Amino acid sequence: MAETDANEFLLGAAANGCIEGVKRALEAGADIDFDPLENWSPGNDTSLPPSTALHFACGTGQLDLVRLLLRKGASLVKRSMAACAPLHAAAVNGKTEVVDLLVQHGATVDIRDGFHDTPLMGACHFKHVDTVRRLIELGARPDLTDGYIGQRLGTEAGNQESVKLIQEARRTKLLRCCNPKCGKPGKRKTLKLCAGCKLTRYCSRDCQIQHWSVGHKKCCGHDVCSIEGPDHFQLAKKLHMYVAEQQQGPSDFYINLA
Ligand SMILES: [Zn+2]
Ligand SMILES: [Zn+2]
Repeated sequence: MAETDANEFLLGAAANGCIEGVKRALEAGADIDFDPLENWSPGNDTSLPPSTALHFACGTGQLDLVRLLLRKGASLVKRSMAACAPLHAAAVNGKTEVVDLLVQHGATVDIRDGFHDTPLMGACHFKHVDTVRRLIELGARPDLTDGYIGQRLGTEAGNQESVKLIQEARRTKLLRCCNPKCGKPGKRKTLKLCAGCKLTRYCSRDCQIQHWSVGHKKCCGHDVCSIEGPDHFQLAKKLHMYVAEQQQGPSDFYINLA
């Protein structure tokens, strides 16, 4: 199988939830982080998900596929779908179990997308109360509201319950240890800040070492989406063009930036 074919086969298998197909594509040399949107132009084929296989699996809540892709080395920091990380894809679609799994594998809970929003802000915007609750338990900071969505927090109808959870968490002035096996609450000053990303916090050195070894090592330092990169509004526009041109296919996982 040629590499391009293998890449397309990988995405096609992921879109159909076919784990065996994903395995075969990877064996045939597919790039696990292949993103068809990167080289797509209007008028081209739109039959594949406009994201990496991991983003797609996260956004559609396919736990087994997410597990397989992580085991095979899919990147937790690769940006797709207008500069979202896989954790954003899971959070904005309310896939709480996937959120949990990604953090267990070292994902930085407050990773920023191209619009500077954290997964917590995305989950709140899309009214996924359970995901909001879990992200706060996992150590997401309730006060990071400087992103595009975050700045509008509390101004939209329908997500009052999520906003309330965020405001309550903010009032306690407590943050959680970012080792998902721990999650102990503590005052901001008493928790140890990761010197690399300055985003994750831990109650002890042991918790930091544990989270580092399960995967934070690979994520740390890739948590902020650089403004020197591609124009994120242009990327979002491209994603919208892709979705608009798509005749059929899953539509429940796209990020609604309109
Ligand atoms: Zn870090
Ligand atoms: Zn801890």
